[in-house]
Amino acid sequence: MKILGIETSCDETSTAIVENGTTVLSSTISSSIDWHKKYGGIVPEIATRHHVEVIAPILKESLAQSGLSLEEIDAIAVTQGPGLIGSLIIGIAFAKSLSLALKKPIIPVDHILAHIYSACMDNVGIKFPYLGLAASGGHSSIFIINDFDDFRLIGKTRDDALGESFDKVAKMLNLGFPGGPEIEKRAAKALNKKMLFNPPEIKNSYDLSYSGLKTAVLYYIKKQKQIEQQEIDSICFGFQEAAFQSLIKKLELAVLNFNTDSLAAGGGVTANSRLREMLKGLGIKLYLPALKYCSDNAAMVAGLAFRLYNKTGSGNIDFGPYSVFEEKWKP
Ligand code: AMP
Ligand code: MG
Repeated sequence: MKILGIETSCDETSTAIVENGTTVLSSTISSSIDWHKKYGGIVPEIATRHHVEVIAPILKESLAQSGLSLEEIDAIAVTQGPGLIGSLIIGIAFAKSLSLALKKPIIPVDHILAHIYSACMDNVGIKFPYLGLAASGGHSSIFIINDFDDFRLIGKTRDDALGESFDKVAKMLNLGFPGGPEIEKRAAKALNKKMLFNPPEIKNSYDLSYSGLKTAVLYYIKKQKQIEQQEIDSICFGFQEAAFQSLIKKLELAVLNFNTDSLAAGGGVTANSRLREMLKGLGIKLYLPALKYCSDNAAMVAGLAFRLYNKTGSGNIDFGPYSVFEEKWKP
């Protein structure tokens, strides 16, 4: 079964065609990230306009890459949420139009669960139940995944997401946007590998919090009269270690308390090699996406859609832009 996936939840416009949930026949991504850089963060209106402009050409490219025509696609999958409301609406409207015009089933997919699925796309051997981690610019969430359509959110950030905290700390240090890759590079070359900041911890919970750590970094910077390049490297190291140690502690607790021997982790932050190393240290079977599928992409959407379709069939076309596990958007 060949499924066309559509992803427009944030700044990446992506379409992909995936066969039977695992074989990526084509994957095309156009990011509007360069347009957001001068604002130091994602500007929703810019992201939305970019989706409108490029979604049709992106689809054409995906079809050309795969050598397939639209008629040869068996179903349409689309990110339902969570994400920026204007951005989601573009993808959903586009997907619904294709579904109606082509008379093909439509499958709404949760973006966060798709990130976790991206870790298993090549590894169909993963056994339920497993721990799921989504670590991205907007989310830091820990799940118990009992099946593709049966999951429990056990922990999430109470304030900033992990990727968001990287972006904010990078902004304080004038390291550009998005901040994650630059902080990783700086941390790796730090000569002073001191724990400058305490790993944040919320007791008796799997929840995470990064706003306090971010503030600690801000006050540390403010206290310095002048910051040398080497000091910036040390701050990046100290921040990155504290941020990841805090996450690892919660995952260790989950491994201890839940009957699972595997972790599937996805989202932009899982591209970080230090995080990958620390996740390996958990001592359970680790499933991670290829680097090109860590950030937002439609292949993960089409992949998970196949699993959902096999379990529950086509979704009703009457759905809106929200997440299946978060509170619905309220006016
Ligand atoms: P996503 O929200 O999944 O598109 O991922 C984007 C987020 O991942 C941004 O907040 C980035 O700063 C973060 N990110 C990307 N690469 C890295 C990295 N190597 N280390 C840490 N964070 C990263
Ligand atoms: Mg993104």
